[in-house]
Amino acid sequence: SREWHLVSRPHGWPQPEDVALREAPVTEPGEGRILVRNLHFSVDPYMRGRMNDVKSYVPPFQLDQPMEGGAVGEIVASNAEGFAVGDHVLHGLGWREYADVEARHAVKVDASVAPLSAYLGVLGMPGLTAYAGLFEVASFKEGDAVFVSGAAGAVGSQVGQMAKLKGASRVIGSAGSDEKVKLLVEEYGFDAAFNYKKGPVAEQLKEAAPDGIDVYFDNVGGEHLEAAISSFNVHGRATICGMIAQYNATEPTPAPRNLALVIGKRLRLQGMLVNDHRALQGQFVQEVAGWLASGELKYDETVVEGIENGFDAFLGLLRGENTGKMIVSLTR
Ligand code: NDP
Repeated sequence: SREWHLVSRPHGWPQPEDVALREAPVTEPGEGRILVRNLHFSVDPYMRGRMNDVKSYVPPFQLDQPMEGGAVGEIVASNAEGFAVGDHVLHGLGWREYADVEARHAVKVDASVAPLSAYLGVLGMPGLTAYAGLFEVASFKEGDAVFVSGAAGAVGSQVGQMAKLKGASRVIGSAGSDEKVKLLVEEYGFDAAFNYKKGPVAEQLKEAAPDGIDVYFDNVGGEHLEAAISSFNVHGRATICGMIAQYNATEPTPAPRNLALVIGKRLRLQGMLVNDHRALQGQFVQEVAGWLASGELKYDETVVEGIENGFDAFLGLLRGENTGKMIVSLTR
């Protein structure tokens, strides 16, 4: 079985020398454990943070150990009650072909409800992030004008569509290519979208939201956050979900220069971690499964085939090569 190890901690952009694809033995599962053949694993922006040796809300990856992350696969051997060979499970030991998983850390998933990869995206962690971040953290209400950055990604694409489904007055998205901008408006039903690489974000946002915004869902940080603060109406609310524009930065990044506007506009900037919102899981799955069944909610995946391409998929995610959820599939 092959697995990806972190072998040195990247400074700035991760390099191919920072990781290694290594062979590991496959063993019979011990008491309470299952052996899973991974079919899909997730690469996510937060993994860049886990490559650093700093205290954070998730512990760093260990050097010369397999990296971790969401994965779905098929049980090939079981030593745990309630888990049978052939069952499909979601678990946290991705980045490898075979995973020896403690059964209590695995959740059974149903391939007849949705394609298995969807449990890593629209029906999984990124989907819940969008749902909780919009409805709980940002206190979204009908009639709000919503701006989301990273809008063609796994989280952002769901935020914009969920806002529309719940009665947003206007939904604006930003993304890094003209094709993505076209997708946002033509497929996902955004009212307006722009390519942030084509001009200052503040100017493009003002043009796209002439009456201002009430909610900003931040996946990017930096210039995007500053632009949102400028465009906010009074009592605007930002969900600070991610700041991908600075994950590979080697120097401290500038603060929004207009932060003092928070006072006069009485803004709320609220950080979030999806794990705080597990209580919403049932409601989230029920509502999203309904929207998927009715065709009201769309999602895309960018699938990279083969474990040997796993690290390139991760780099591609950081560069914006994905539309929707970036998935590594081992089904070949
Ligand atoms: P995405 O699917 O959105 O992939 C990342 C995207 O970020 C890329 O496709 C790229 O799209 C965009 N991007 C990369 N660099 C930049 C840049 N410099 N400026 C603007 N955009 C950039 O990833 P996810 O949906 O999984 O995650 C989105 C955000 O949400 C991340 O910041 C992530 O860390 C955060 N997150 C936070 C969670 C929490 O609990 N707080 C949970 C899950 C995710 P483009 O082509 O548009 O540049």
